[in-house]
Amino acid sequence: MVNWILKKILGSKNQREIRRLRPIVEKINEIEVQLQSLSDDALRAKTAQWKEALSKIEDPEAQEKYLNEILPEAFAVVKNGARRLVGREVIVNGQPNTWNMVHFDVQLIGGIVLHQGKIAEMATGEGKTLVATLPLYLNALAGRGAHLVTVNDYLAKRDSDWMGTLFNFLGLTCGCIQHDQPPDFRREQYACDITYGTNSEFGFDYLRDNGMATSRELQVQRGYAYAIVDEVDSILIDEARTPLIISGPSTVSSHQFDKFKPLVEQLVKKQTILCNQLAAEGEELFKNGKNEEAGKIFFRIKLGQPRHKALLRAMEDPERRRAIDKAELSMHGDSQKTELFALKESLYFTIDERAHEADLTELGREFLSPGDPDAFVLPDLITQFAEIDTNPELTEEQKLAAKSDRQAHCDAQAQRMHNISQLLRAYCLFEKDVQYVVEENKVVIVDEFTGRKMAGRRWSDGLHQAVEAKEGVQIDKETQTLATITIQNYFRLYRKLAGMTGTAETEVNEFHDIYKLDVVVIPTNRPCIRKDLNDLIFKTRREKYNAVVNEIKGAYGRKQPVLVGTVSVEASELLSRMLKREKIPHTVLNAKYHAQEAEIVARAGQAGAVTISTNMAGRGTDIKLGPGVTEVGGLYVIGTERHESRRIDRQLRGRCSRQGDPGLSRFYVSFEDDLMRNFGAAERMTKMMERFGMKEGEELEHPWLNKSVETAQKRVEQRNYQMRRRTLEFDDVMNKQREVVYGFRNETIDTDEPRKLIFEIIEEAVPAKVNELLAPDANDGRPDYTALLGWINSTFPLGITPESAQFEKMETEEIANWVVEKVKDSYNLKVKHEDQNAVIGLERYIILNAIDRLWQEHLFAMDSLREAVYLRAYGQKDPLVEYKTEAYEIFVDLMARIKNEVLNNLFRSTSNLLAFEQLLSSLPQNFLSQEDPLEGPSAESSPRELVGVTIRSDENKIGRNDPCPCGSGRKYKSCCGRTA
Ligand code: ADP
Ligand code: MG
Repeated sequence: MVNWILKKILGSKNQREIRRLRPIVEKINEIEVQLQSLSDDALRAKTAQWKEALSKIEDPEAQEKYLNEILPEAFAVVKNGARRLVGREVIVNGQPNTWNMVHFDVQLIGGIVLHQGKIAEMATGEGKTLVATLPLYLNALAGRGAHLVTVNDYLAKRDSDWMGTLFNFLGLTCGCIQHDQPPDFRREQYACDITYGTNSEFGFDYLRDNGMATSRELQVQRGYAYAIVDEVDSILIDEARTPLIISGPSTVSSHQFDKFKPLVEQLVKKQTILCNQLAAEGEELFKNGKNEEAGKIFFRIKLGQPRHKALLRAMEDPERRRAIDKAELSMHGDSQKTELFALKESLYFTIDERAHEADLTELGREFLSPGDPDAFVLPDLITQFAEIDTNPELTEEQKLAAKSDRQAHCDAQAQRMHNISQLLRAYCLFEKDVQYVVEENKVVIVDEFTGRKMAGRRWSDGLHQAVEAKEGVQIDKETQTLATITIQNYFRLYRKLAGMTGTAETEVNEFHDIYKLDVVVIPTNRPCIRKDLNDLIFKTRREKYNAVVNEIKGAYGRKQPVLVGTVSVEASELLSRMLKREKIPHTVLNAKYHAQEAEIVARAGQAGAVTISTNMAGRGTDIKLGPGVTEVGGLYVIGTERHESRRIDRQLRGRCSRQGDPGLSRFYVSFEDDLMRNFGAAERMTKMMERFGMKEGEELEHPWLNKSVETAQKRVEQRNYQMRRRTLEFDDVMNKQREVVYGFRNETIDTDEPRKLIFEIIEEAVPAKVNELLAPDANDGRPDYTALLGWINSTFPLGITPESAQFEKMETEEIANWVVEKVKDSYNLKVKHEDQNAVIGLERYIILNAIDRLWQEHLFAMDSLREAVYLRAYGQKDPLVEYKTEAYEIFVDLMARIKNEVLNNLFRSTSNLLAFEQLLSSLPQNFLSQEDPLEGPSAESSPRELVGVTIRSDENKIGRNDPCPCGSGRKYKSCCGRTA
């Protein structure tokens, strides 16, 4: 009821919105009529005039205002341009085509919505490609670039060729980013007024520009003013879980998957044997009418192997299913906790299919590591540390050593447990040809929503390697992240973002809450006359597929084309085999070869065509009906399973009945489908099956059942939304850090005077270090000047002696200022006689190098932190809070380390060390101290000593175990080197 009211209100709000835009549409059309009398050149001249006017406006807000004012006329120019092109030949992807489009009114409405930075929901076939030309043209006039983002390279090329004709005609340039282009070429594409490309190309260019390029010339993008994301739901929602990552080989490799694989394999076998025995027992009990006991036994199988065949078979039988559900329900009561625990412990491991988790039990641990019950338990570090701390027999150093030993032991333990749990997941939850395929000795992820193979992407956290170990293919080296961003965060960079898709309505809340994007549903050009039939519900998958094949046979007989949607590659192949047996010619698409698939999908509307396709294969290509097809009812869309998300189902249905065509859609569902097993109200379904007395081969159909399926879908959608939200919350932390670091990096690249930055760093980092080193020592409460001297002399060529410095007589702040000035002076001196251009380059390089090296280390640390906080979740702490707190700490530390690294390299990487030394030897002896008010000219210090031991290139860097150069007699690592 509440929903219904909400819908009424929302619906009418949407209608009001559309109604408000109608007058603008009329105005556009009026102006367009007037424009018809202009010459082509006069029309084109408008573009140049507007560009000129806008180039004089600096403020983006003011530009936006101007754009709003000229919108009706600018849209009219685009529409009129389209009209002038009608009949003209256009080469699209190498194929000749004839331009035949002039914007419909609803397309003008869509264009306005896109200009406003909202999502336009427009059904498939409504011509979104053409709609985008209106706001792209308008926004490109501002001269800051306008981007159109598509889902694959093929579509980017097709749309930029096609729409580029119109832009060029109107006097704008249009470029296209493709995967294999070199940087120079890319820069030219970005320099165009309008640029088409895929989300990952745009995102990777961003990462390369900001995280790797070392000069402006190597950067290709030029800002983020306006982007329209085509198929926006697919990009902002489906892809939300896999970030873009640029990685290189890792320097450390720690996995032991190959070592544990045989063990885990045996463990899984053991469990299978156990479950087989249980199944036999349970079967016997059921036969003897002992349902309650049998139910318990099968529930145990469910805990250990949720996809066990005997279990799935038992679930088909209403009576047995009820017994199993009852056993499960009874176990979840509070009083049953011990019994549930005992049940779990009778297995080797337990699987939670819904949560995607696998847990070892005591039995399993004993099997993997006989006689060592602690091998898979994380030690209690806190207690151990406390014991060490209170042990009077240990010296401080021994305590430290003991602690780091305990810590290392704990890390190894955690690593082993992690490897094994990932292997278990790989074996029990990841099925070949469903979640992944094996190709050319590689494990390739299959996107669960689209069925698309995601070449090059890897599961994180060792899972990918675990699956590689399972499949016996080469286990790829662990890679280290060099740069990463989620697609969402990339799009948040744009000043104005808009999107278009056929299916946004079910995700209105998510778009609004996370991206601040409103959705406006645009009416279709012609009324949609598609018939959506009720779902047909079967007991088993087998019966379902038989029915689907029969239905296809019928349609094929009357020459009605059928598009069959599946949720996995495996299902597509199963269906294909069944059709082959029936001798029904058909085509299978797995969303792999975009170009070929586009051609095949385009033919899917011909009489008698049967096309099997995973969800998104051939997306973006519309299906035109062949001759005679309208008479037999248009395209028939059959879904072989309800998808986890209603949106994907809507997408499939939407592939027929475009532009007022007839069409028909129906979903086939079985109780064995994952969605039904995991999220359908099991109890209710079982009752229903009994009530209707379902028999072999029979099906159910009722609007009420559709509702019940949709309830299950909403539940999953909600859960998935929460998961995406969570991922984003974690990513937000990284995002803020990335902004700071990339900002600093770009400042370094852009500045003509990197020395200013270097001096700022000196002014910040030197006092910080002085404060740190002079903090009253715990032992005697006095500042440690020796350490300070050691640090100064090993970092800068100042050759300061205790006598020359007289630190005891100064306040800490004074000392800091004094050192800062010394360092600056000597730096100025160093660079004075070098090639100034080379110095600028070198200075920039010193900073960039420090940022890049430490930032990459930091990314690695952040990854580990993310893993670590999940382990802590057991300790009732919120992982996100923990993550935020610690991430902040290590980030502050990172910034300090970057600055220190710059200091360390200032004098080490001189472009002309020799020149510097010669210069020094020619100077008056007291050069460095001559302006120092605190100190008279020092007789002892010769120029040579001024440089002393302190100028060193990387080769003769002191080793950690060498005696400290400060003369303390301690090792370098436990003296001045301890913070370096
Ligand atoms: P969508 O992306 O909305 O599914 P497309 O942009 O792929 O739709 O366009 C679908 C088809 O409609 C294309 O063949 C296109 O040529 C055609 N089309 C779009 N707009 C018009 C128009 N105004 N007049 C005639 N044909 C159009
Ligand atoms: Mg499209």
